Amino acid sequence: MRGGRVFLARAVRMASATPDVATRVDVANIRLGKPTRYARKREGAWVGLEGLEERIAAEGSLVRETLRDMETDEEFQLTAKRLREEGAAKMTLEEKKRRRRALDALGVPEFGAYVAEHAAADASRRSASVLQLNIGLYCNQACGHCHVESSPKRVEAMSDEVADGCLELLANSPSVSTVDITGGAPELNPAFRRVVAGVRDVERRQEWRKIDIIDRCNLTVLGEPGQEDLAEFLASHRVRVIASLPCYSAKNVNLQRGKGVFDRSIAALRKLNDFGYGIAGSGLALDLVYNPLGAFLPPSQEALEAKYRDELGAEFGIAFTNLFTMTNMPIKRFADFLWRRGELEDYMSLLVRNFNVATVDSLMCRDTVSIGWDGKVYDCDFNQQLGLGLNKPATSNNGLTVFDLRATDDLLDVPLAFDNHCFGCTAGMGSS
Ligand code: SF4
Ligand code: SF4
Repeated sequence: MRGGRVFLARAVRMASATPDVATRVDVANIRLGKPTRYARKREGAWVGLEGLEERIAAEGSLVRETLRDMETDEEFQLTAKRLREEGAAKMTLEEKKRRRRALDALGVPEFGAYVAEHAAADASRRSASVLQLNIGLYCNQACGHCHVESSPKRVEAMSDEVADGCLELLANSPSVSTVDITGGAPELNPAFRRVVAGVRDVERRQEWRKIDIIDRCNLTVLGEPGQEDLAEFLASHRVRVIASLPCYSAKNVNLQRGKGVFDRSIAALRKLNDFGYGIAGSGLALDLVYNPLGAFLPPSQEALEAKYRDELGAEFGIAFTNLFTMTNMPIKRFADFLWRRGELEDYMSLLVRNFNVATVDSLMCRDTVSIGWDGKVYDCDFNQQLGLGLNKPATSNNGLTVFDLRATDDLLDVPLAFDNHCFGCTAGMGSS
């Protein structure tokens, strides 16, 4: 380990130059410098609300468009080639080494040591209030920044047996008050409706409990064939929708998330509003998530929320509950994106310079237990995608599954498995 004084001195020097959280709120006008070819190919112009729903219905599934994008997109082709040649485990290891090398060049120690040095705050696990379930990696989109590398080509999906194991764990874990369902596009997984109905069943059987269910929704899923009743299903089961919308402009959304995504997102938001989502007094929360389009931190959450409210309200008549801003994690597809541009070190430097001690108390992993599609247990979804299992020497690192736990409190003594990607969770407003 490096001498604490050396890295503290560097950190202080870095901390004195932190203009980064001043990203402007006018995010529609942020332009990415490169690669221009990539940007041009995925642009899409907004053509208006007229006939929107009919246009989308006539186009059918977004999957065809996404697959076409993936086949012609240089970024995806490069990643697919490396996956074929090296395999996922080797790529993840290489990615980890690159983050370490970037921090070495900056003179910054491991994340755990950095937190201990700077935060002076407890960063240990608490009783879990959130049970996070990643029920599968299939998605109708294939976004450029996706930290789970989802796409229509992924086939991993949670079985009924694992889903039922998660529900049993929930029933035995009274501290858990939220079930957070993610993917891929979780709604396209057969386990989704089984889990949602199962959670409400636990609530019925344990009358003293009130459990929030979160659906991490990509919005376009509402336009997929077979999902015509999804909004109604979500509303009738009182599911809170947290939806990604990285901009209020068609061009930027299509650039990050694929051609045609903006139109479908707008149509989905309007449909959710029709069911009461995002409308004050309905009890149905519709939260939006902004994440930057490039290697910069999000602007102020409060100011950006006001801007979104103005833009989405005036242009499309859309209402929503809250806007959350999230930092892009330097892992998987986004890490690869940065490395190929020679921007990984700069991005790690940006994250370290903007280390925010206030985020340590609310790190997601401190009160979350995260279960993968195959039942394996992790500290968070990011660790899950890196294959970074629990810090539990008694088991092989990836060995513990939902069937080994009686209740989430079984993990109370297990230290959190931090690594250097965790700087993404402590920069600015954090990513948890
Ligand atoms: S970011 Fe979300 S919507 Fe995009 S590919 Fe990944 S899982 Fe799908
Ligand atoms: S990446 Fe996971 S383990 Fe690391 S700080 Fe964030 S939530 Fe915690």
